[in-house]
Amino acid sequence: MIGARDANVGRLSDGVFDTLIVGGGITGMGIALDLAARGARVALAEKADFASGTSSRSSKLVHGGLRYLAQYQFSVTRESLEERDRLARLAPDLVATLPFLIPCRGGPLAVARLAAGLSLYDAMSHGSGRRFTHCSPSGAQRLAPWMRVDDLDTTFVYWDCQTDDAALVLAVGAQAGSRGAVLANYCAVVSVQPDGDRHVAVIRDGIRGHETIARARSIVCATGAWSPGSIRGASEHSLTVRPSKGVHLFLKRDRFPLRCACYLPTGIDNRLIFVVPWHDRVLVGTTDTDYGGAVDRPTVEPEDVDYLLAALRHNRRDFGLSRDDVVGAQAGLRPLVRTDQASTRASREEHVWSADNRVIGITGGKLTTYRRMAERVGTTVAGWLGLPRAPVTRDLPIAPRTVNVESSPSPSIAPSEAQINRWIRETGACRVGDVLARRSRLLLLDHRSAIRASGAVADVMAGELDWSNEQRARELEVFAREADAHGLPEWRTDGYSAA
Ligand SMILES: Cc1cc2nc3c(=O)[nH]c(=O)nc-3n(C[C@H](O)[C@H](O)[C@H](O)COP(=O)(O)OP(=O)(O)OC[C@H]3O[C@@H](n4cnc5c(N)ncnc54)[C@H](O)[C@@H]3O)c2cc1C
Repeated sequence: MIGARDANVGRLSDGVFDTLIVGGGITGMGIALDLAARGARVALAEKADFASGTSSRSSKLVHGGLRYLAQYQFSVTRESLEERDRLARLAPDLVATLPFLIPCRGGPLAVARLAAGLSLYDAMSHGSGRRFTHCSPSGAQRLAPWMRVDDLDTTFVYWDCQTDDAALVLAVGAQAGSRGAVLANYCAVVSVQPDGDRHVAVIRDGIRGHETIARARSIVCATGAWSPGSIRGASEHSLTVRPSKGVHLFLKRDRFPLRCACYLPTGIDNRLIFVVPWHDRVLVGTTDTDYGGAVDRPTVEPEDVDYLLAALRHNRRDFGLSRDDVVGAQAGLRPLVRTDQASTRASREEHVWSADNRVIGITGGKLTTYRRMAERVGTTVAGWLGLPRAPVTRDLPIAPRTVNVESSPSPSIAPSEAQINRWIRETGACRVGDVLARRSRLLLLDHRSAIRASGAVADVMAGELDWSNEQRARELEVFAREADAHGLPEWRTDGYSAA
């Protein structure tokens, strides 16, 4: 269990930790679990909510990445497939196998090329036992009745997995917490300074407004798209992170009756988008555009919505799709690392940097490969600390104990009082958005219902967290700003909350 936030913040200043991890996305949580499982005394500080960065804004796929195969990135695909199959085994309640339909146009050569790629994809995967199959256009029509099949040469069905990304982060965190890791959200690490054989980190508590000092023998930066350069004392080790924005839309399922996921050409460029059943909605995405705005608050812009709707229309039999069919949206930032300053190419592999003074950082990579990334960092840190270097998480189950898939039959229904209280006590939830965006996924799955539910959620939180009326009002304003950043541009209220 992660536990209640204030108690965890209090424990940050208790003695000297073996490691302080900066960042509570999937990478930081994975490292916390890896090191806690090796017997290290671990602290983790996250400046907002756990998973509030990229790790709650992904396509929610645990996959090898057919796209990487097309780019001849064989090792990325092989490692990802191995981790996909491992996660499906270790977290069966969180990682589900799903059929993916991929249409093929372009004549016999294109069909042969795709079939060869899918054969290789299957061959690289040892665990799933599922093999791709041909599917006739009429068979495809049965799986995805809304899809245009008139000009298809054929379709294929292959297999990958999906998850609830924020739930996965919390589940990994719960495992780390149960091994003694102290995990504190709304705690920004503002500076790190060496002090003899340890580091002293200044941490700002974003809820109470205090500063706290944590001491640790080693530091791990897992700050994703946030450059570690923003932490004083870590700057000389930083990489250049070049974020790329990816937007997803969530649509009503009745507009997209689906018995599988689809991987479809956009018809606009040579990219493909996913159309995936997720909870009781359909997730559509993603875009991929260079991003130069505020890393804390990527937003969905009109051109993102137009692009995704145009790509959907290109694949539909009827063209009657409108913005009214969209019930939620989100934008996330890929933490791509600029490997060559003169080049516009950026790698999607993870990058690890490390300094002599037991400071290490990792950025990039994928949700799917978090465990292996964590193992890589954990092995180095374990060497520094004199802990066992052998892998420890390869067979460690990730139980879904504290996550919404277990506790709520549908995350698109407003959470109950009991759920909210449990999330506060067991997962560190302390803001309205923590409940409505990441424990429940109502803000993504039904934006307007989430706004309507926010007042009642705030009432429950006020009771449990002892908020005054003024604080309740402030928290609703904070939520309204978060909701603005999650929805379509035309839904924005500029932070005003009427709840
Ligand atoms: C649109 C999109 C779709 C994707 N789809 C998939 C997919 O389907 N499958 C897949 O495998 N991968 C996918 N990815 C990639 C995957 O989501 C990311 O690689 C992964 O979530 C990155 O996790 P992270 O923990 O490194 O970063 P983050 O989740 O961003 O976590 C970094 C954290 O560090 C915190 N932080 C920053 N500075 C500080 C500080 N000073 N003090 C304390 N905390 C700090 C931030 O608040 C943040 O929470 C996708 C990415 C995007 C953008």
